[in-house]
Amino acid sequence: MTITKQPMQPIAALDHVCASSVKYVLMDIDDTITTEGKLGAEAYQALWSCTKANLIAVPITGRPAGWCDLIARQWPVAGVVGENGALAFWEEDGHARRLYHEHAVKNDHEILGKIQRRVLAEVPGARIAQDQFCRMFDLAIDFAEEEPKLPLSSAQAIVEICRSEGAIAKISSIHVNTWLGKYDKLGMAVRFLTEQYGYDDDKDRNQVMFFGDSPNDEPMFEHFPNSVGVASITAYSHLIAHKPAFVTNHAGGEGFAEAIALLLQRIRGN
Ligand SMILES: [Mg+2]
Repeated sequence: MTITKQPMQPIAALDHVCASSVKYVLMDIDDTITTEGKLGAEAYQALWSCTKANLIAVPITGRPAGWCDLIARQWPVAGVVGENGALAFWEEDGHARRLYHEHAVKNDHEILGKIQRRVLAEVPGARIAQDQFCRMFDLAIDFAEEEPKLPLSSAQAIVEICRSEGAIAKISSIHVNTWLGKYDKLGMAVRFLTEQYGYDDDKDRNQVMFFGDSPNDEPMFEHFPNSVGVASITAYSHLIAHKPAFVTNHAGGEGFAEAIALLLQRIRGN
């Protein structure tokens, strides 16, 4: 059941029937629930509101295993998919649970070492992300998390180097992430919901509301009919073939909080 054929509707167009079908709230982290690098009070409260309303909230991120350990233990979420789908962490019966993708390759592999040397030598200003020490499977190259922010053309040059060495590479709003092994955020997100909650990807896609902010979220926008872009997505519309069903008025965490408030209101029938 698809809510609307026309993409990028204002979130206010969400109706009671669609809202009532939502059981899972999945979200990108950077620039989707954060604003200028911070997880603000409204967005964090919105995660609590989801949990209190018995919605299953799961961040889906390129952020590292070390961060995911904290998120799974301390945030009001059901679990987290990290390192672009290499892993899922959650808590269960008082234990930290771990799922690693069987194709994930540890990031001390010589190919990633070669990519690192080439990127630093060939792309001016590129640097290894400061959160690299928390990572298990990927190499993250910072182009826009810290200053100086590099143009998208630098990120694209990094991606070319990664791919020429046979690695997978994705551009987020802050990093280029590169890894060996075939997996992605969407596949691991579906697997986590299926194994933990009995989600059926053939018939339950309308139960998922996914939130994202940029072109690297497009596979999720395409897969889940009830997807939402926070306002900054409109800057990338020309780069996205599969647009989210809805768009918020506000960017980043304020946009996420706005949409969750509306979702809960529509579920209640208001
Ligand atoms: Mg993002």
